[in-house]
Amino acid sequence: MRDRVRDVPDFPSPGVLFRDLTPLLADPRAFDACIEALAAPWSAAGIDVVCGIEARGFIFGAALARRLEAGFVPLRKPGKLPPPVVEVEYALEYGADRLQAAAGALQGHRRVLLVDDVLATGGTLAAACRLVERLGAGIAGAAVVIEIESLAGRTRWPCDTPLHAVLRY
Ligand code: 5GP
Repeated sequence: MRDRVRDVPDFPSPGVLFRDLTPLLADPRAFDACIEALAAPWSAAGIDVVCGIEARGFIFGAALARRLEAGFVPLRKPGKLPPPVVEVEYALEYGADRLQAAAGALQGHRRVLLVDDVLATGGTLAAACRLVERLGAGIAGAAVVIEIESLAGRTRWPCDTPLHAVLRY
């Protein structure tokens, strides 16, 4: 699986080493192994809905939801969802961004699993966590394909529930 992750230096800006997961997605065996590894810690966790973070979190999250026999709810960038929405704002290196979900999308859901492709500084996953809490749901944990350990994103994970990564760099 690891050999299907392409390292791209200086993308999207100088000094950044981007982990490109598109070769993994294009390889059916690696993609399947990845979804199995993402699902393994959660198979008996009673997850009732998977929330995927736009955009690559949709790909892994939707496949994982099917595997866990759970529903799927997208957490989206601003301007994509029709109203009413609930949103959170979070800081980026330069500026700010927002994540939105349909109001009521998680009504009655107690065990939400957050999914994204990469955990870097942890800001995105922390914002997703706040959004799910604002929607009134409970967070069972988070699953990412790649954790970039040197950026210590795990230290920003605000929940006392597990955060599992398939690959660590
Ligand atoms: P963070 O908020 O943890 O700093 O960044 C995580 C978000 O940025 C994720 O949604 C992820 O898609 C994107 N991201 C950051 N670094 C990388 C990377 O090296 N590769 C990929 N594929 N996405 C990244």
